[in-house]
Amino acid sequence: MSDTIFALSSGRPPAAIAVVRVSGPAACGAAQALAGRCPPPRHASLRTLRDAAGAALDRALVIYFPGPATATGEDLVELHCHGGRAVVAAVERALAAVPGLRHARPGEFTRRALENGRIDLAQAQGLADLLEAETEAQHRTALAAAEGAVGRAVGGWLDRLSAIAAQVEAQLDFADEADVEDAGGYDPAPAIAALLAEWRATLAAPSVERLRDGVRVVIAGPPNAGKSSLFNALADRDAAIVTPIAGTTRDVLEAAVMRDGIPYRLTDTAGLAEATDDEVERIGIDRAATAMAGADILLWMGAPVEAPAGAVILAGKADLPGADHTGADLAVSARLPHTIAALWALLADRAGAMLTIDGDMALRQTQRDRLAEAAAALDLARRTTDLLIVAEQLRVATRPLAALLGKDATEAMLDALFGRFCLGK
Ligand code: GDP
Ligand code: ZN
Repeated sequence: MSDTIFALSSGRPPAAIAVVRVSGPAACGAAQALAGRCPPPRHASLRTLRDAAGAALDRALVIYFPGPATATGEDLVELHCHGGRAVVAAVERALAAVPGLRHARPGEFTRRALENGRIDLAQAQGLADLLEAETEAQHRTALAAAEGAVGRAVGGWLDRLSAIAAQVEAQLDFADEADVEDAGGYDPAPAIAALLAEWRATLAAPSVERLRDGVRVVIAGPPNAGKSSLFNALADRDAAIVTPIAGTTRDVLEAAVMRDGIPYRLTDTAGLAEATDDEVERIGIDRAATAMAGADILLWMGAPVEAPAGAVILAGKADLPGADHTGADLAVSARLPHTIAALWALLADRAGAMLTIDGDMALRQTQRDRLAEAAAALDLARRTTDLLIVAEQLRVATRPLAALLGKDATEAMLDALFGRFCLGK
């Protein structure tokens, strides 16, 4: 039997109102201890809260929600108190003194909701992301995930997988009985191709991490090209938010910049000099190479012929007379603000597209990895006409999707199965 936990569920005091939640078998007992008695279920009652010595703490609304149809799946009591610091502290102290009660650990209410099947893993992760959301897209996708959008989408995919699998199994049984090699009939290919196309579209959308951490813009090129000056111009107070990132070395400088609602992560690399024997310099060059490999947008300040594939080629020091812009996408100078503005426009164009999502669904990288695993299996199923292999790969595809919801595959298949029964059956 689990113990009973409590915590302040609303924002930090002081505030107009503070909601303290109590979840677990002793929730009703806790209401009784503080409010004299546990109110009837789902009715807000105004009560004086008192500590064990009988001292009045606050006049509060007390609501009792009997489990299991509650947010946590357990008996739940909400105390809507006045939101002053002293009130909240006194109520929490009084709750801590009730036998069997303890302060909740971070995320413990959500964890209980997950363990009691009130929400799926994707919803729990969406809730976590919602608390951290800064940009509009982050907010929208995290809210959708918290409300079960990811779970519903994956649940729908599992339903379709099991429907295809059922047809394939039936076809295999029929082939057995008829004792023929190829019984003809059901062709799973179109349904598999449609599902795979949906998964690939989902995988092409930005991840939760990308929405949160921003588009990685890396400035690279030979020494003295003007990279650091450009970095400083991009990361200056024009930007709404500029934060130095801890742990950066003198080799690679990073800044998180929010500009026109788009989060960026800017990286300035040390000059990519030719091969060197200097140990320190070589480490710097390795770091620069790693940063460049991880770039979403690579800004190359240097000779166009040396630009890595896909890089945006910048001609630097555009303020100098006689500067050569041949072959460059854009001429820039830290000393010419309009060139910096033009670069921001170019970045917004590319980064905006990278952060665009059609629906509301963004997956975390771990979720994407699992979907990619399922997609690989489905791709194998699509490439064969051997129904035995198709059946096997459909099973393989089920597992990572079930894991994405925090379920094992059998449970997910049972859910898909019983989900089709009507209510009351
Ligand atoms: P990095 O080695 O590529 O990072 O280049 P820096 O930004 O450190 O600049 C190297 C030198 O070029 C410094 O002396 C800067 O003052 C100068 N510099 C950088 N950008 C410009 C520019 O836009 N115009 C001019 N005239 N000089 C620049
Ligand atoms: Zn530099």
